[in-house]
Amino acid sequence: MIHKPDHIFDTVVIGGGAAGFFGAINIVERQRSASVLILEKTSQVLSKVKVSGGGRCNVTHEDLPLKTFAKHYPRGEKELRELLQDFSSVDVKHWFEEKGVRLKTESDGRVFPESNSSQTIIDCFSKEIQKKNIALKTSCAVINVRKDNGIFYLSTSEGEIKTKYILACTGGSQNANHYNWLKDLSQSITPLHPSLFTFNAADHLLKNLAGVALPHCRIRIRNSKLQEEGPLLITHWGLSGPAVLKLSAWGAVELAERQYSFDALIAWDYSFTEAVLKEKINALIKEYGKKKINNTAIEPIPKRLWELLLFQSEIEEEQTWNNVSQKKINKLIENLMSYPLTVKGKTTFKEEFVTAGGVSLKDIHLKTMESVKIQGLHFAGELLNIDGITGGFNFQAAWTTAFIAAKNIVTSLNKK
Ligand SMILES: Cc1cc2nc3c(=O)[nH]c(=O)nc-3n(C[C@H](O)[C@H](O)[C@H](O)COP(=O)(O)OP(=O)(O)OC[C@H]3O[C@@H](n4cnc5c(N)ncnc54)[C@H](O)[C@@H]3O)c2cc1C
Repeated sequence: MIHKPDHIFDTVVIGGGAAGFFGAINIVERQRSASVLILEKTSQVLSKVKVSGGGRCNVTHEDLPLKTFAKHYPRGEKELRELLQDFSSVDVKHWFEEKGVRLKTESDGRVFPESNSSQTIIDCFSKEIQKKNIALKTSCAVINVRKDNGIFYLSTSEGEIKTKYILACTGGSQNANHYNWLKDLSQSITPLHPSLFTFNAADHLLKNLAGVALPHCRIRIRNSKLQEEGPLLITHWGLSGPAVLKLSAWGAVELAERQYSFDALIAWDYSFTEAVLKEKINALIKEYGKKKINNTAIEPIPKRLWELLLFQSEIEEEQTWNNVSQKKINKLIENLMSYPLTVKGKTTFKEEFVTAGGVSLKDIHLKTMESVKIQGLHFAGELLNIDGITGGFNFQAAWTTAFIAAKNIVTSLNKK
């Protein structure tokens, strides 16, 4: 689609990622004649979609009551309760299936294309923008935006572009400069922090346990209300697994303030309380009193971890249960239900991370995703101060906000 330099687009979508493509397609789906242009600063569109979900693209999460679904967003929960009523994970599934993309739900609730390939989603979007005659310009960064007489003037690396409406979908970034053009438009940006990361342990003893996985741990942060339950994986550098990732998301701001230096307290199984462990140990002493302690681990503790816990409790592996002092048993109980691990630093999880913080939701009309401050400027996706835990929740936020913005842009276009 070639446009004359003085052409005024109905909508320019800034950012050729998940939210940008979804928004652009939904605008034209509702109004066939709308002239829409997507601007992407890099040479590649949809690059995060491509690598998402380990190359499989976890497009959303299974249908849950909306209140429960919204609980998966450390930032934006309250707002998503409302937004999801307009476009939920059920709507996402219908949308893709209508376009011929077959989806499947895995046992943990994550939804993927049946093809197990993110390329299926990219192909779907590429086909739709062609079919709908949506213009796309890559290697074109929007640097600055001004509004004059109801028209937006976008100064880009490729010259000036004019439009009636803007859908801003520039994604998240921890670099504050990324949001400069929005600050110039008086949009407030809430502080930016990484979310979804793993913990680096200062404790070298754990390194020998790399690969050990526990299905039902509870991790707490000392001197904090933060705690999470779920599977835990010991890695060469520290702790990973769903419990840690969830904790990193809920603690994104607090842990950043502590400069990622804190003590994690691990219950190796969340059923472990002092009473439960005393009962288990008494049963072991009764049954295996004369057996070596290292051969009779408490379930579900794997042998390698059991040996470390004995060592940390100053219990020799060769000792029999009958010979261990009460003091050492008490220490063992403490290490089983509250193992202290000093965390120093963080590591990105499979390069998958999101930004906590961004365009303040206070500056946005939630029913329309339009700026409270600048009429005609709409927002969708990760540039907003909304982020979810892993499991398809971040794409769902992108689809939902883009859908609502698109709907409102078309309503406004029809009024003009
Ligand atoms: C490795 C990885 C795997 C992930 N896997 C999943 C997953 O499986 N499921 C899930 O739900 N979430 C996943 N996420 C998170 C998810 O990818 C993002 O939340 C989602 O892509 C956000 O979409 P977006 O369109 O808002 O932003 P983006 O996808 O980041 O797109 C923004 C686009 O805007 C462009 N842009 C920025 N500034 C400008 C400018 N000034 N002018 C023009 N263009 C600009 C950028 O180059 C970019 O292409 C993953 C993230 C990563 C990093």
